[in-house]
Amino acid sequence: MTIREQTEEIEKAAFHERACHSTASKGRQTPEKEGDIRTCFQRDRDRIIHCKSFRRLKHKTQVFLAPKGDHYRTRLTHVLEVAQISRTVSRALRLNEDLTEAIALGHDLGHTPFGHAGEAVLRKIHPGGFDHYVQSLRVVDVLEKNGAGLNLTYEVRDGIIKHSKGMGKILSDTPSEMAGTLEGQVVRISDVIAYVNHDLDDALRAEVLHTKDIPQEILDVLGKTHAKRIDTMVRDLIYTTLNSKLERIAMSDRIMAAVVTLRSFLFASVYESQRLKEEFHKAENIVQSLYKYYSDHTGLIPHMADGADSPLTHVCDFIAGMTDRFALMTFEKIFIPQRWTVF
Ligand code: MG
Repeated sequence: MTIREQTEEIEKAAFHERACHSTASKGRQTPEKEGDIRTCFQRDRDRIIHCKSFRRLKHKTQVFLAPKGDHYRTRLTHVLEVAQISRTVSRALRLNEDLTEAIALGHDLGHTPFGHAGEAVLRKIHPGGFDHYVQSLRVVDVLEKNGAGLNLTYEVRDGIIKHSKGMGKILSDTPSEMAGTLEGQVVRISDVIAYVNHDLDDALRAEVLHTKDIPQEILDVLGKTHAKRIDTMVRDLIYTTLNSKLERIAMSDRIMAAVVTLRSFLFASVYESQRLKEEFHKAENIVQSLYKYYSDHTGLIPHMADGADSPLTHVCDFIAGMTDRFALMTFEKIFIPQRWTVF
């Protein structure tokens, strides 16, 4: 028996019956021989961690653009917080922690520079629009490894494409909007738990908000500190789901309502606040200018992934893949005259 087979046996003994066992995967787009050490979902997680798009997340905006302060979240620390929350929940529910971790680490690989400001521009100007979750799937399926893709399992890909909800329902009643595995559903809600908490924390750090601005009902129901609020949400998610015998991933109505209120509060007073909007407009201009420039100069785009795609798709992939600082540097190089340095 190989080490992988031993792990699969441990899964059989330990997992809840509603968990997604590694042996039950619907497989990869291109079939591959199983390894002797890691399960298919462990391999997917490792492929994501080793890919270039994952490393670029460290210089992509979460909320605050290219922050100078070292304590602000970036897209990378966001996905690590989502992975940590997802794993805690999955292990408590006896679900497949490796599958949840792989989905969590891969869910935001398609994010543009400058966060949702970059996404909004591409959505507006790119024919066919743009959504970061569709792009995340494109990164793992097509763009990584110079166009070969990572050839991930069906379950990880499904979790990535179904994680997003914007202002929509955190846990949708429409089955087609939800991941097919409970592990994928755990990531979807853990994403919200992570960002409402860390974005509030960063907004306080940035002095966009002060504790006295937080509605009292949020403090009363969820708690007065960052740690307490995460703890309230995670505990409620675990125990409410356990009470349903894992029929569904769920939160109690009371806590869910408070989470939704907190999300709306953040939209109104942080994401769409005047102070952030001003910088967002500048970022939008940069993304728009770069898109236009590279549409006229497609020959300058390095590593065009696949001859089958239209030139504008290459432009969109190239821009979407940029980090904040790479986009700023490229913009400067193209549009800002350099000082003459020969005396
Ligand atoms: Mg996310």
